[in-house]
Amino acid sequence: MTDLEHLLRRTTDLAIEHLATLDDRPVFPSAPAAELRAAIAADLPDGPLAPTTVIEELAAAVAPGLTLVPGGRYFGFVTGGAVPAALAADWLTATWDQNAFSYVSSPAASIVEDIAAGWIKEILRLPEGASVGFTTGCQMAHVTALAAARHDVLRTAGWDVAAAGLSGAPPIRVVTGEKRHVTVDRALRLIGIGSDAIDIVPVDAEGRASAAHIADRLAVHRGPTIVVAQAGEVNTGSFDPIPAIAAVASEHGAWLHVDGAFGIWARVSERLEALAAGVEQADSWAFDAHKWLNVPYDSGVAVVAHPEAHRASMLGPAAYLAATGSERDAYDWTAEASRRARGFAIYAALRSLGRSGVTDLIDRCCAHARRFAERLAALPGCEIVNDVALNQVLIRFGDDETTNRVLEKIQRGGVAWMGGTTWDGRAAIRISVSSWATTVEDVDRTVAAFAAAVA
Ligand SMILES: *Cc1c(COP(=O)(O)O)cnc(C)c1O
Repeated sequence: MTDLEHLLRRTTDLAIEHLATLDDRPVFPSAPAAELRAAIAADLPDGPLAPTTVIEELAAAVAPGLTLVPGGRYFGFVTGGAVPAALAADWLTATWDQNAFSYVSSPAASIVEDIAAGWIKEILRLPEGASVGFTTGCQMAHVTALAAARHDVLRTAGWDVAAAGLSGAPPIRVVTGEKRHVTVDRALRLIGIGSDAIDIVPVDAEGRASAAHIADRLAVHRGPTIVVAQAGEVNTGSFDPIPAIAAVASEHGAWLHVDGAFGIWARVSERLEALAAGVEQADSWAFDAHKWLNVPYDSGVAVVAHPEAHRASMLGPAAYLAATGSERDAYDWTAEASRRARGFAIYAALRSLGRSGVTDLIDRCCAHARRFAERLAALPGCEIVNDVALNQVLIRFGDDETTNRVLEKIQRGGVAWMGGTTWDGRAAIRISVSSWATTVEDVDRTVAAFAAAVA
């Protein structure tokens, strides 16, 4: 065996060992930061160190500091593990070391992204002619799609932002709900639209903005306007009423952008049809593959119904880049130049799951969420705060102090991990079921941990 072969086989063993022992370890690290730092700290060596030694020592040193996201009892944020084919494709992505910048930098990466883009539009029932950019996550998908929106609404107002910039441009207004994700504001700021330009409408108990409130704001504003709606609120999983919002946005000539980070995957389920209908009526969508599609980090998707606005807001042609004209050059669709070939893992995830597998993944997570709600509701003092229509379960145990104490016990107990939040000005615990790996037993073990914590 060559040294490289030995290194890669040893690395495979370490990966398998990690995944095979998930059940035996606390879901969140119990070691304090100082201890982790002491284990990981090393002097930068003066000379080379054998790669196998580096990898073995790295794996051993970081093990006590890893959150066990690939396991079935990680319910933090809205993030799931990685389906096996996507994990394996991601290993190969690093091995192949392709630059997914353009067709010429990697014909394979370009074609795989093109095919994965088609599958995503098909499975999510988004317009066939829409353009797709593969980004680091939903944050940069927002930047990408909202840059296209900015280009388009200003073009309609007679302003070429690509040439003239924003200085002196007609002001853009953004209308959105109070419970929009924090990454929407950051994306807007990065493209030159500050918080003063964001017109925030109130939301209902589930965090939904109403079309009537949005229509009121649109009626008093003439000029370039972007509406940002949400498909999947990060605490409750609720959807804004997108068909009604699309109708008022269209009536006022506003661009409708949808934040569907995890929630857009509800589009694959017949059970969730009522929730996710009409999402295709938007002008752009931003979402993740690394959340509910269970692809490894980092992987987001920007889809734009108006490819010319999308392309005009990104790189545009440059002579040395050697565009083929007919094949996909990723630099047209994202804000990055050289980048990881993210399409391989998405392609592998979709192909290995198939249509029914993606539907099963989404339906199963939602069924687990309902089971959580049913079982937790039976515990003394437990209140289910949200309407559990998707994969999110928001709970409380009486006052803030009790809720926080229960959460802390769960987080320290090691059986499961989830985060806390504030909802309606009060503390709450957010359980997000987002992983293919979660089983009924995982749900029941977690509920048992809650029962013990409450007792
Ligand atoms: C997670 C999330 C985002 C941001 O996505 P990243 O992948 O972390 O960049 C945006 N919107 C919503 C609703 C989210 O849940």
